Amino acid sequence: MKADVTIIGAGLGGLVLAGMLHRQGVKIAVYEAEASADARTQGGLLDLHEHSGQRALHDLGLYEAFLALVRPGEDAKRVVDCQGTVLLDRPGDLATARPEVDRGELRRMLLDALPPDVVRWGHKVASVRKTGCSRHAVAFGNGSAVETMLLVGADGAWSRARTALAAYEKELFARSCPVAHLSASNLARFFGPDAPMSVVDLFANG
Ligand SMILES: Cc1cc2nc3c(=O)[nH]c(=O)nc-3n(C[C@H](O)[C@H](O)[C@H](O)COP(=O)(O)OP(=O)(O)OC[C@H]3O[C@@H](n4cnc5c(N)ncnc54)[C@H](O)[C@@H]3O)c2cc1C
Repeated sequence: MKADVTIIGAGLGGLVLAGMLHRQGVKIAVYEAEASADARTQGGLLDLHEHSGQRALHDLGLYEAFLALVRPGEDAKRVVDCQGTVLLDRPGDLATARPEVDRGELRRMLLDALPPDVVRWGHKVASVRKTGCSRHAVAFGNGSAVETMLLVGADGAWSRARTALAAYEKELFARSCPVAHLSASNLARFFGPDAPMSVVDLFANG
């Protein structure tokens, strides 16, 4: 299956985007450097805010599943000095609007909401280059490669994909939306009927 949108990185951002596009019927492929979903522990707790993380989970239809992962009271804080004297002891707030969840469990929930073949594990981006009008060639460390029209760099804070894209798409990012050159019907096909409006609004306000 040829994907309409190629996403680099199966972290929280990449998987939320993949889930949104999948719900709109867009064909997606996510390329992730790690060898499998269980290749490493994903870190500690995250608190999710109403206006961002929780809102995304609502839109994905995963809010109820998220609530089942919440760890009540895990926002408790205690600060001690080097003698062990307690300087701050704040109990957890059971009614907090920013509940805590385990990052690994959250990622697993997002993965389970996607068809199993969407994430291609063991694909670490080695290079990205432009191959003509709005196409990108992505080469992976395992020797494989893909060519794609829409490429999203969700490969973390030190993103190799975004760095490469920014190097040759600088003018495009600076002056217009990266998808603005697509026809309205293509936009609707890629992102669903509502999203193109937000693209237009963004630039109307900017
Ligand atoms: C210490 C800390 C605490 C935080 N606490 C919170 C919090 O409480 N609440 C909150 O909402 N946010 C929190 N954040 C922010 C949150 O972690 C990020 O916003 C979120 O992880 C960003 O998601 P992402 O998908 O862009 O990147 P990541 O989650 O970093 O995922 C990137 C993915 O890309 C993969 N990758 C990397 N390089 C390549 C490559 N070359 N090729 C292919 N794949 C690659 C990685 O293996 C990884 O799976 C915290 C961040 C940190 C560092």
